[in-house]
Amino acid sequence: MSASQKPLESAATIRHDWQLHEVEALLALPFNDLIFQAQSVHRVYFDPNEVQVSSLLSIKTGSCSEDCGYCPQSARYDSDLNPEALMPVDAVLKAAQQAKEQGASRFCMGAAWRSPKDRDIERVVEMVQGVKALGMETCVTLGMLSDKQTQALKDGGLDYYNHNLDTSEDYYSEIITTRTYQDRLDTLERVRDAGINVCCGGIVGMGESATDRAKLLLQLANMPKHPESVPINMLVQVEGTPLHGTEALDPIVFVRTIAVARILMPQSRVRLSAGRKAMSDEMQALCFLAGANSIFYGDKLLTTDNPMTNHDQQLFERLGVRMGGSSYA
Ligand code: SF4
Repeated sequence: MSASQKPLESAATIRHDWQLHEVEALLALPFNDLIFQAQSVHRVYFDPNEVQVSSLLSIKTGSCSEDCGYCPQSARYDSDLNPEALMPVDAVLKAAQQAKEQGASRFCMGAAWRSPKDRDIERVVEMVQGVKALGMETCVTLGMLSDKQTQALKDGGLDYYNHNLDTSEDYYSEIITTRTYQDRLDTLERVRDAGINVCCGGIVGMGESATDRAKLLLQLANMPKHPESVPINMLVQVEGTPLHGTEALDPIVFVRTIAVARILMPQSRVRLSAGRKAMSDEMQALCFLAGANSIFYGDKLLTTDNPMTNHDQQLFERLGVRMGGSSYA
């Protein structure tokens, strides 16, 4: 039986033993078969007309010691970015309140650090508690964490921790040299073990091969528990970063990546993340059809531009999509 003919119930089974050849076969399915399978899996666990909306704020910007080749926040690249120190708690809460009024159910806070200092964690915990008091879910991305820091975030009530794998283990050293793939896996394990929900995905369009995309998805899908949120980012090419000028990825390949993420991780929120600004409404609609059911909302994504919220609202209206479903299914 071909992958496109599998009974849908079994296609939506939660598995953690995917093989590379299976993932590559899914990525290579005829497009209509792939989308049909992804949409069918999607409907087993989610309302197909509902998209969860998160808002992302950069709470500490730039001057990062890491060398991630896509990132304008690295101190190593000349990207016209104004570095900013860790924001005061009240300014963060004001932004969260605004995001809530615009319909966001989760507030994500990102800091450009290799890893935070213990005193930074204290202030981040205050932010988490303040955002939760507004009735929103919280997510932070702060780099690598120690056990103590992870526990402090858990005790502070943090709902999600974001830490992306970025790409396949094989391609990783082309993108980042200042920390290892294993460092990332270790942080993810620490977060999972502390009982914090995991937000973990990657970036495509960085010059990686189809096999690298398959291996990234395989790594995510074969974690002992699937990440609750899986952001799939399209590289935003920022002048001054080493990846500026990389050949653009075929948008259909991006949609295929979303569809396969949906099939491999049926219960996860697959988030259409960075790169939406450059996507047509039609491409975003295809991504929703392929099983994406979360977006970042707000006109900034850390330091790069994102579609305006009223444009997103109009698109949702045209598609009959509702915002909602804040919690993990
Ligand atoms: S992606 Fe994060 S860790 Fe890497 S350079 Fe940017 S801010 Fe630093």
